[in-house]
Amino acid sequence: MKIALIAHDRMKEEIVQLALAYEAILSEHELFATGTTGKRIMEATSLSITRCLSGPMGGDQQIGAKIAQNEMDLIIFLRDPLTAQPHEPDIIALLRLCDVHKIPFATNLGTAEILLRALERGELDWREIIHEEKE
Ligand code: PGA
Repeated sequence: MKIALIAHDRMKEEIVQLALAYEAILSEHELFATGTTGKRIMEATSLSITRCLSGPMGGDQQIGAKIAQNEMDLIIFLRDPLTAQPHEPDIIALLRLCDVHKIPFATNLGTAEILLRALERGELDWREIIHEEKE
């Protein structure tokens, strides 16, 4: 599965803790992240992550492009609900594309943990069927 990890600045510590707690599960998948989030996670774990640009510089849009091409299976985007973001339109676009393509999307730690446990139990394997249909 291809998984994207993104966190706004005030949520970076939370995503690092999440990655540490679920490192074993995450290490079995292909990981992508926006620039700074990916750097922080790689510094704290032994996970290997393909880093896109930083979010405000277009990283969310790069991940959005993969969603549009059905090349993402799960998005964890810990958004900061209390701080205005300069790239708000990019974030909304990412959310919209996930809804268009029915991609599981977590915006907070509670949902992120549920999705990662579902992933571990194989409950997201239906995504493989979608990949097969595409081929
Ligand atoms: P960052 O981008 O990981 O480069 O900080 C995240 C974002 O703000 O969308």
